Amino acid sequence: MGKIKRIVLDMDGVLAAFRQGVLSWLDLELDCLGEEGRKVFRFFPYLPERKQRFLRCCVLNNEDFWATLPEYPWTTELYGLCTSLAKTCIVTKPWKAAGCYSGKYRWIMDRFGEVDHMICEADKSWFDDGETLIIDDKESNLEKFQHSFLWPMEWNDGRNLTANKVELFLKESKIKGWF
Ligand SMILES: [Mg+2]
Repeated sequence: MGKIKRIVLDMDGVLAAFRQGVLSWLDLELDCLGEEGRKVFRFFPYLPERKQRFLRCCVLNNEDFWATLPEYPWTTELYGLCTSLAKTCIVTKPWKAAGCYSGKYRWIMDRFGEVDHMICEADKSWFDDGETLIIDDKESNLEKFQHSFLWPMEWNDGRNLTANKVELFLKESKIKGWF
């Protein structure tokens, strides 16, 4: 039996393709961010100004935006794997808009058919108790956790890890003796 009893699983950037969703709603291509903009977590400043305004005042307040964010190729596999390994809770930092909460709820219901363990909380460090593992794409969310896995994405330090991400996670789990 490993040391991890619970998993805190991030939503945007791990399960839901937030950046892809934004670009699609603004009718933009990834190239518009430029090489630098693709490598940062906060990519809004790299969007055309007019589109940024539209994004903030219309798109992010729209429940349908959150509810229809695309999945990644690994989303279903990763969620299934986590729930098979430990009690899994999707913890997500909500945008300050009612449509975000209800949209995220719909997103999870549509895919996984359950929302028993969804928590909207900005400060994820509340959940660190030494027996909880966080999986997140944002480095600063991992800092206060004793057990963490940085989900490798283009905008974080794992960008050069090009192998299958689920396999990378399983390999790390074995090395660390998490489960
Ligand atoms: Mg995230």
